[in-house]
Amino acid sequence: MAAINGVGLSCPSKLTKSTKSQTPKWATNATIRMTASVDEKKKIYTLQKSEEAFTKAKELMPGGVNSPVRAFKSVGGQPIIIDSVKGSHMRDIDGNEYIDYVGSWGPAIIGHADDEVLAALAETMKKGTSFGAPCLLENTLAEMVISAVPSIEMVRFVNSGTEACMGVLRLARAFTGRSKIIKFEGCYHGHADAFLVKAGSGVATLGLPDSPGVPKAATIDTLTAPYNDISAIETLFEEHKGEVAAVILEPVVGNAGYIQPNLDFLAAIRKITIENDALLIFDEVMTGFRLAYGGAQEYFGITPDLTTLGKIIGGGLPVGAYGGRRAIMEMVAPAGPMYQAGTLSGNPLAMTAGIHTLKRLQKPGTYEYLDKITGELTQGILDAGKKTGHAMCGGYIRGMFGFFFAEGPVYNFSDAKKSDTEKFGRFYRGMLEEGVYFAPSQFEAGFTSLAHTQEDIQRTVDAAEKVLKQI
Ligand code: PMP
Repeated sequence: MAAINGVGLSCPSKLTKSTKSQTPKWATNATIRMTASVDEKKKIYTLQKSEEAFTKAKELMPGGVNSPVRAFKSVGGQPIIIDSVKGSHMRDIDGNEYIDYVGSWGPAIIGHADDEVLAALAETMKKGTSFGAPCLLENTLAEMVISAVPSIEMVRFVNSGTEACMGVLRLARAFTGRSKIIKFEGCYHGHADAFLVKAGSGVATLGLPDSPGVPKAATIDTLTAPYNDISAIETLFEEHKGEVAAVILEPVVGNAGYIQPNLDFLAAIRKITIENDALLIFDEVMTGFRLAYGGAQEYFGITPDLTTLGKIIGGGLPVGAYGGRRAIMEMVAPAGPMYQAGTLSGNPLAMTAGIHTLKRLQKPGTYEYLDKITGELTQGILDAGKKTGHAMCGGYIRGMFGFFFAEGPVYNFSDAKKSDTEKFGRFYRGMLEEGVYFAPSQFEAGFTSLAHTQEDIQRTVDAAEKVLKQI
């Protein structure tokens, strides 16, 4: 198994807090409006246009957004409304620029609005945007995914990570003839009913219990265990002998904040699923093509039976996928009886963006570069925390990272929840004013890209130290 590159998984002890010379507005929890200067030129940081647009958006869409975490509820303030993105940067409608560590929640691994991807999309678009019939581009992306991901011998493209997880769950149940699944607390597998039990991401961010509208019958077969706790899994298999269809997990958690698996955890789950004739599903919607070209399964050397993908394989357009051993995948309609379909699945634009994004990732040095800059970023932020007297911990692998305002170590969602989320909110708003855009929640991982420069990283670390001194 490959060694984990995580830094500072165990956390510095609490140091004395530095004295605040001046408390900026964003450093208090009450703050909403941000008007301090954003750079050396004393440009006024204003979000006036964003504020107006968001006020209107709230009248038009629930909470003003089309996906909950975007609403900034857990960090205070209000979302910035984005006008354009390029490389590692985003620009809002007030003209403020940010170094972006969200990357559209993962897809932008080669940088936003990459010239080659845009040119390829323009070419494909000349032939139309959707065929609703097979096209050659589907074969190309399928071949690329199959040759990259160790567990995938056949693949089905869908339109989102949620759809991929819904499909894979039905497939695991169809193949095994069993109903129960085991998932982990804080892991997020999209918003399908069966997965909205102790889920991460927005469900955790907003502190929502299992969502209203999810019938009991839909979750009755969903069993949960704490992440990194193999004895809990052993107990569940013992209690539900012959009933468990599959264990599904994020091989590195990104939806409860960033949490790494213990070295023996993935191997132990692989072993116990085999012993119980249950399938092992890696949800690599986040980690696929991010930890390595072959995903977390290549990085850790553990091969699951089924895998879900999303984000990067669509290169910024809506794509998800699930795949695995041929014998299992041949259950999927029309090869087999398990039904699953999609009007826009495999559409030429989405396939094109995916193909050209993966092509770029094949170039030598990709993952070494991601590892280097993400390591410097994470270590830099943790060092700044130590210097300024904050209890922080965190880690990274390749292009994925995270940190908590907690003593640590963080092995599971309960540990993650010990983080000082109010402090994270103050840090978050401070960083925003400094021109750095992190995910607006303590319970989301961060992402770097090939477009992030050494200068971006240095500016971010400097900004972090400045902000940490003031909160
Ligand atoms: N699985 C994982 C691991 C995810 O991180 C996400 C989204 N963040 C999903 C599934 C759902 O994907 P989507 O938002 O594309 O539906």
